[in-house]
Amino acid sequence: MLDQVFRPCAIGGLTVPHRIVMGAMHLNLETLDDGGAALAAFYTERVRGGAGLIVTGGSAVDPAGSGGPGYGVLDDEKHRSALRLAARAVHDAGGLIALQLFHAGRYALPGTPGTDGAAPLAPSAVYSRFSRTVPRAMTVEQITGTVAAFARGAEGAYELGFDAVEVMGSEGYLINQFTAPLTNRRDDAWGGDAGRRRRFPVEVLRAVRAAVGPGFPVLFRMSGADLVADGTPWEETAALAVELAGAGADALAVGVGWHESPVPTVQAQVPAGTWAVYAQRVKRALRAADHGTVPVIASNRFNRLAQAEEVLAGGDVDLVAMARPFLADPAIVDKSRTGSSASVDLCIACNEACIDRSFGTERVSCLVNPRAGHEREFPARPSPAPRGRYAVIGAGLAGLEAARTLARLGHKVEVYEAADEPGGQFRLAARVPGKADFAATVRQREQELGHLNVPVYLGHRIGARDVPVLRTMDGVVLATGVRPHRPDLPGIDLPHVSDYARAFADPGALGPRVAIIGGGGIATDLAHLLTSGSSPALTPEEFLASRAMTAPPEAVPMSRTTAAPAGGSRQLTVMRRSGRIGTGIGPSTRWVVMEELRARGVRLLTDVTYEEITRDGVVVVETGGERRLVAADHVVLATGQESRREVAAVLHRAGVPFETAGGAADARSLNAVRATAQGLRAAHRI
Ligand code: SF4
Repeated sequence: MLDQVFRPCAIGGLTVPHRIVMGAMHLNLETLDDGGAALAAFYTERVRGGAGLIVTGGSAVDPAGSGGPGYGVLDDEKHRSALRLAARAVHDAGGLIALQLFHAGRYALPGTPGTDGAAPLAPSAVYSRFSRTVPRAMTVEQITGTVAAFARGAEGAYELGFDAVEVMGSEGYLINQFTAPLTNRRDDAWGGDAGRRRRFPVEVLRAVRAAVGPGFPVLFRMSGADLVADGTPWEETAALAVELAGAGADALAVGVGWHESPVPTVQAQVPAGTWAVYAQRVKRALRAADHGTVPVIASNRFNRLAQAEEVLAGGDVDLVAMARPFLADPAIVDKSRTGSSASVDLCIACNEACIDRSFGTERVSCLVNPRAGHEREFPARPSPAPRGRYAVIGAGLAGLEAARTLARLGHKVEVYEAADEPGGQFRLAARVPGKADFAATVRQREQELGHLNVPVYLGHRIGARDVPVLRTMDGVVLATGVRPHRPDLPGIDLPHVSDYARAFADPGALGPRVAIIGGGGIATDLAHLLTSGSSPALTPEEFLASRAMTAPPEAVPMSRTTAAPAGGSRQLTVMRRSGRIGTGIGPSTRWVVMEELRARGVRLLTDVTYEEITRDGVVVVETGGERRLVAADHVVLATGQESRREVAAVLHRAGVPFETAGGAADARSLNAVRATAQGLRAAHRI
């Protein structure tokens, strides 16, 4: 039951049909040379799937405030046209859309248009690890000019047909830089004490309100907790919320964390719903100051509407913003509304095709929904072309994506899988604590294929006997995946050596000392699993406690404060011949993975040459030429993969056209984002 979720809510004069807001996401569609068509199609599909109020990705109010080369700037007519088209498309589909007014401040990345190579602007010249620059401290004229730019941006949003604006004041961007002592070292009218640090956000809101008048809804996204040392203290956060409400904010959305935070906020390792507590505190502060009628929106790390329901039922939050879950499934709202939440493509918080790409210029998409951002290229409706009969060989992620795409296009499809379960390599990751949602992806595919009447033949290894059937097909997608690579190493056949797939299947069979040869994402996942013992994923409370964040004000430091979880007593070594451990994991996640492994006492060795495996462990030679034994009861090989392509010969014999996708096409650095995208493309091409 989602009774709390499916109640309308007023934000200023706007009636939002339910309590889920589609939160802002920068998509790298904003400045494409297509007049806004891709952006409009992206939003339209979400409205058709039940999104009520959509907040756009940030549009810079000033060229100097652009987040990077793919960001739109509001004084650029091309970007304005794209926004106009997007707003119109959302309205035509029956939705509501707010424009996010944005200024990156010291987070403006190199290459930001409009800066002419100059350092970004910020309250003070404090180095940013994120943009790797020392910004320029703003002059008073630049500050007042930026306040005016926000006001102009709001007027522009009104003229472009938007229903509301959201002022971006959290996540460490310019406005948030003014509120935090860390980045505001001024001693003038715009900094120096709590009141003067709050002045910039409040002036921005007043200017925006004055520009659009009383009837146009203005949301303000504020930071509930900066999660950086010397960030905005809680008392100042609460006071800011009260002042913003007094200055005419129609709703406060509460974000958490900066790009420079030592605390992960949106990674899979963070339990869902962890950050709602900060929105709840803001609401209580508003109530205590007689501003309790101003709606508060919780955000960050929700991926199911049931979690939103729970938080809303608590009574201290009015709406919940979700962003990535709308990438993963444009219809998450409608599917949940009709009670079929098991059919939702869940966001698994991998960040690989979304957040990691948003820092560059590549189009944002989604690992579990490769159509995201490509809605025009790959329409969801059945193909007008003649219907055919297709086989998909392999039920890993690539094969499952190909199968459901072909079936959605209206074709008859059959899936053949040699293993007894679908999911391929993805199933392995699902065993890692904190990654249980990976299994939900596979279950969702099974359910969807069932609804689409696609038979999945498990335990069926395609061979010569299948040639007559394959000859009847119009085409085949070959997605037979990979097998672990076995390096040529003395001792490789010893009984205590196994490949990573066997280790994942039965981690309890491994002894107290384990050496993993190989240091990519599979090795780090396995290391995590092997040091977790039987402990389940953390609860939000346990996660916060592990960072000494049980109550405001947050204790500093906020880095990992607890050691290995109960049961994680294994002595583990992960080694790699060259390069960094965890190469291949996206930048938004790798540091979290590495921090966790270090907290668990995992020994990390790089730049070693493997000499041999013995009964006592692995003999390695380090860069300096020192030879030593890495003692281990078991040795696990995570040394890459090889494509399984034997079935290609059968297909050639059958004379059936085929497309290859996933690991069968390319086993180098296994990549689930690439696998699903290839599955989608193969299905459209065949
Ligand atoms: Fe979620 Fe990963 Fe998709 Fe991003 S790429 S929306 S994190 S599933």
